[in-house]
Amino acid sequence: MTRYQIAITGAGIGGLAAAALLSHEGHEVTLFERFTTPRPLGSGLVVQPVGLAVLDRLGAGDEARALGAPIRRMLGHAGERTILDARYPSGQSGLALHRASLFHCLWHAALKAGVTPLTGHTATGTTQDRDAIHLLTDRGQYGRFDLVIDASGAGSLLSPLKARPLPFGAIWAQVPWPTTDLPRDELRQRYRRASRMAGILPIGHLPDDPKPRAAVFWSLAAAELDDWPGRDLNDWKAEVTAFWPAMEPFLYQITDKAQLTPARYSHGSLRQPHNSRLIHIGDAAHRTSPQLGQGANMALLDALSLALALRNPLDEALHLHRQARRAHLAFYQFASAAFTPQYQSHSRVLPLLRDHILSPLTRLWPLPSLISHLVAGTIIPPISGTRLPRT
Ligand SMILES: Cc1cc2nc3c(=O)[nH]c(=O)nc-3n(C[C@H](O)[C@H](O)[C@H](O)COP(=O)(O)OP(=O)(O)OC[C@H]3O[C@@H](n4cnc5c(N)ncnc54)[C@H](O)[C@@H]3O)c2cc1C
Repeated sequence: MTRYQIAITGAGIGGLAAAALLSHEGHEVTLFERFTTPRPLGSGLVVQPVGLAVLDRLGAGDEARALGAPIRRMLGHAGERTILDARYPSGQSGLALHRASLFHCLWHAALKAGVTPLTGHTATGTTQDRDAIHLLTDRGQYGRFDLVIDASGAGSLLSPLKARPLPFGAIWAQVPWPTTDLPRDELRQRYRRASRMAGILPIGHLPDDPKPRAAVFWSLAAAELDDWPGRDLNDWKAEVTAFWPAMEPFLYQITDKAQLTPARYSHGSLRQPHNSRLIHIGDAAHRTSPQLGQGANMALLDALSLALALRNPLDEALHLHRQARRAHLAFYQFASAAFTPQYQSHSRVLPLLRDHILSPLTRLWPLPSLISHLVAGTIIPPISGTRLPRT
């Protein structure tokens, strides 16, 4: 097997996972991150069973489990009506983590695997000839590399992806878990039509603080996100508490708007995520709303698939990786585009359809099992293709 000189841009979920896995495979990996002190943005997320399998492979699974909260069920209500009740396949669970906890596990796994991180470098482009590729950053040119992996996320300066902005985003916060009757192993959501959605997700604890925490989110239309900087905090808290009183002890701990992070969502994927020496993975290659909770898993799976494919000669490997991930990615992009408007849109018809037709149908065999596998990320094989070596 050839040892390649590889540059990775972005010390996020996909970049760190790819760095650790490729370093384990014997490649020489240099990781470029724009922040001087790498830090995760946002609050919490769920790593699904497929993503956990990747974390296990790169040696970060046990540490992640020790920090995160196992999620066994996702339960959503509109008024008194149960709209969503999804459980994981038998013996499996999701793992909800503070982003900082996931970052902590991945960062240590990458360093332990021998990755060289170069922080404070913003990747701006590449130049390429027949035999090598060079990475351009705000600090100069680096290389010769055999391959550049762009894992610099939704704001990538290297990726040509023009994703379609979605009409809704959300504001997110993370707070200590308060005294409440809510269980610490379930994602709870509440909806009004598709224009209002609130959520509470237990996310375990931070590496340096044993107190359990929660991520809370509140869906906002694009125009409301534009107006968010001028919105009065107490007025907003009163609106959310009136909508869902169970939010009150969580919101009580938000005393400053700086605790809330606005997030806008977009949807789209690159038709051709690579050329002969540059490949885009994770959000740099495909983006969607977090409604199905799969974005981090997609980045982790891309990293594993690419590491396995690179056991083959480079001129075949990128194509093999693309083939291996194509069906899974296409399916989840499609499912996310189909589900998201039922929960986040201005439509009056879709939520009626959701509440009165689709939701009752999902209780009928075999849909509960299919939904479990949809959420777990395993409804179709995540990394297919016979030419990839066995894991
Ligand atoms: C609010 C919200 C909630 C979500 N919830 C979930 C969930 O529950 N489950 C789930 O699976 N997914 C979830 N996602 C999606 C998930 O966070 C993303 O899909 C995932 O982080 C993508 O990983 P990535 O490695 O591609 O990019 P990122 O994790 O965004 O990492 C990109 C990295 O690149 C760096 N970078 C950016 N530009 C440059 C540059 N020019 N040069 C060098 N470095 C650069 C950044 O600083 C960052 O460190 C959520 C997303 C959002 C916004």
